[in-house]
Parts: sequence; C-alpha cells; structure tokens
Amino acid sequence: MINTVSEKIKSIRIDNGISQRELAKKLGISNRAVSKWESGLSYPSTENLIRIAEVFSVPLEYFFEKAKEDNEKKNDVKPLGMESLAELYKTGAGPSSSHTMGPEKACGIFAKRNDNADSFKVILYGSLAKTGKGHGTDFVIKKTLAPKKVDIEFDTTVPMVSLPHPNTMDITALKNGRKIDSARIMSVGGGSIVFENFINPTPPLIYKETSFSEIAEICRKNKLRLWQYAEMREGEGFASHMESIWETMKDSINRGLEDEGVLPGGLGVVKKAKTLFNSQHIDESAETRVNRIVCSYAFAVSEQNASCGKVVTAPTCGASGVVPACLYYQQQKNGYSDVQIIRALETAGIIGNLIKTNASISGALHGCQAEIGTACAMAAAALGELFGLNLDKIEYAAEIAIEHHLGLTCDPICGLVQIPCIERNAVAAMRAINAVSLASFLSDTRKISLDTVIKAMKETGRDIARQYKETGEGGLANIGI
Ligand code: SF4
Repeated sequence: MINTVSEKIKSIRIDNGISQRELAKKLGISNRAVSKWESGLSYPSTENLIRIAEVFSVPLEYFFEKAKEDNEKKNDVKPLGMESLAELYKTGAGPSSSHTMGPEKACGIFAKRNDNADSFKVILYGSLAKTGKGHGTDFVIKKTLAPKKVDIEFDTTVPMVSLPHPNTMDITALKNGRKIDSARIMSVGGGSIVFENFINPTPPLIYKETSFSEIAEICRKNKLRLWQYAEMREGEGFASHMESIWETMKDSINRGLEDEGVLPGGLGVVKKAKTLFNSQHIDESAETRVNRIVCSYAFAVSEQNASCGKVVTAPTCGASGVVPACLYYQQQKNGYSDVQIIRALETAGIIGNLIKTNASISGALHGCQAEIGTACAMAAAALGELFGLNLDKIEYAAEIAIEHHLGLTCDPICGLVQIPCIERNAVAAMRAINAVSLASFLSDTRKISLDTVIKAMKETGRDIARQYKETGEGGLANIGI
C-alpha cells in the first residue's frame, strides 16, 4: 500500500524509470538526500516537493492523496464471482486483444450510440499511446469508424499514475464541428472494455467460486472434473461456443503453417512456422521432433496474430499460440477427439478465469507474466486434463507454469507483437509440457497453492516498473534490434 510521501516519491520515481542519482541531478541536490526521503529518514521541503511534482508532471496533491491506496484497497476486495469462459475465449483479429479488439469494440459501441455524428476524435493515452501504432490501434479505430472522418491523437504526455487504467482512450463524436457526445473508455485486457462513469453492461458472474480452493472443494464433494464443474456453471450455447473456439484455434494453426513472407510493421520479421514444421533432420531425435512441431504450431498462431489474422484470445491475442499448440500436437500425435480437447480447453479456461479475476491477464497492467504466464498455466492444466491427471496434479501443473513466469516483463520491440512475443509463445508451450510432466511426478511434495501463486503474480505485477508494461520503453523495446 502506498500512502506516505516517502513511498510515493519512491514509487513514482521507479514507475518513471529514473534512478535516485538522476532525480537528484534534476533537482540539483545530492543522491543522499533523495535516498533519505525515500527511506523516511528525512522529509523534502515544500519547495523540493513542488519541483518533484514538476519533474513527474503530477499535481502536488498526488503526494498527499490516498487515491492509489484506495484504488489498491478496491482491487484487494474479494471478487464477487467469475464471468463465463465465453468472456475469456473470444475470437477476433490480432495482434492485440487490449490494443485492437478492445478499441474496436469500444468504437463500435460508441459509433452505434452516435450514428448521427459526421466525424470522431480519438485520443489514446498510456500504453495505447505508446505502443498503439505498432499494435495497429489507429488502423482498427479508423476501420471501425469508417467511412466517417477520424482524427487520432497519441498523447504520451499524461503520466500513467493519473490514468484510470494504462489502456485509456477518450472518444468524441462531432457533428458540423460541434461535440455531441464523448466517453472515456478503458481497454482492460482480453478484449474487454469499461466505459467510465457509465453503467457498463457487465457480463453476469455465473461462477460463484473465485478461488481454486473453493472450486476444488466442490469438485471433490461432487466427484467432478474441472470441465464438468465448468459445464455445470455455464449456460445454453456454451457447448457450441467452445466447439467454434477449437475450430478457430485449429484453423489459425493451419493457416499459419501455409503462410510465408514477412510480417507487417517494418521490422522485417520473416514468418517461420512453415519452415520450422518442415525442417526435419534425418537423425532427428523424438524429443527434438516434439519441440520443433509444438513450436511450429505456436509460431503459426502467433504469426497469424501478428498479421492481423483471426485468432482466439487464450487468454489474449499476444499469448494466443500457447494453448492451441499444446493441444493440437496431442490431437495429431495421440488422436485425442475434439470432445476431449474441448474438455481440456474448459479446464484451462477455469485457470485463466481465476487469474483474470484475481490478478490480471493484461500485459499493460501486470506485464507479460499476465499474458504468457497465464497462457502457460492454462496449457499445463489442459494437458493435465488430457492425460487424466487428478485435481491436485492439474493444480500443481498450472501453479508451476505461472510460478516460473513471475516477473516476466512486456517489452515488444517497436510496439509490434512480434519480438519477443512470437518466440515467447513457443517457449511457453514447451514449458507447459515440462510443468505437467513435473506435476505428474511431484504433486505430493508441493508447498505452494495455485491461489498463492496468483496472489504473488498480482503483487509482482504491481511492482513491475511502468516501462515494462506494454509501453514499448523498457528492456528489448528500449534496446531495439
Ligand atoms: S511481450 Fe508478452 S505481454 Fe507484451 S505484447 Fe508481447 S506477448 Fe503480449
């Protein structure tokens, strides 16, 4: 919880990627003074506090307000329930559920509400402003609002701390140059959006249980597997939704394996799925073959995603290759039926839903651990279901998968969902196989629950510095190629 001036100075400095030395230099004081303020050993003068506020472009009140504390308290409230898995598994055009699917949905709703408008103005903030160009946010907004004129502004000057969410956009409808309506919209991950100051038509919370321990209790009591629990809670139309989700996943793999050429965006990244799939060596070992084929499937989906092709959010577009790669490989190699695969997908969906509800699946909020880490946990649980593992082992597989992604940052080069995202999907698919294999041998010895590791993921996500959360400013994105 951040509530003292010392903590606030430290937090905003780290969020902005500035060292104590750099801050001290900007203020014309010694590093020691900054260090003392941050450790609470001394207090900055009002004059210095005003200058710090200027450095970080925040109002002076920021250092005294309890907004962040209240916000975090609000986030720590136990969730009331979980949404349908249909809200997790969505079909749409890549490359990013938060940067393309969310804004597309937001503009569609806003345009419908203002069909008498003759033009629109959209201002993108935070991560949408910093990586929106690479992710194709402007392209999808223009396409959705066409044929009407759209003026798009990328405003990178507003600090993240003053935004309600890292993916925030303002949209204004105009008629004859005069404003007739406006809205502030947050793209909160996985293609979901929230309108500020508006009663959002939120999906019903059809799962009463919000922790793995609660779900496990019901499953044990009623002798249910996780997919049976999911089907018990879901409503009409769920079966056909899941069938179509699996069909789209398979389709995206097959399209990707046929595709060749260079990905759009200017980085010159060559599509590799087809080459990888066909590159069998004469003396290839069984282990190498598994690795090559699974990775080629993950590349296939991720490359389709990067080409604005149709994919399934599992749980997001950026991480859409992990789950299908693991499941398609099992179907091709061991002949699992579509029904068995869909049950595995439902099992994975419960894990994804728990993370979405108790932490986040948004790279802009909690870094890549929230996207790729979640996808890996989902894939590990799905494989556990396919292999007939018990509840404890499925939980353990998912827990291992997230645990070893904790702290993974989001740093796409040029804001494009290509480097490191595509390879990251392939590596996570292999990690999921590793996690389920370990869980099948070791579950009796485990010490950490899935609920605990999800909590750790949320706390880690809060502590990851702002430039590593889909801003295109830290890590690989900063160094470039
Ligand atoms: S680095 Fe991870 S979270 Fe960031 S865009 Fe790529 S896949 Fe998504």
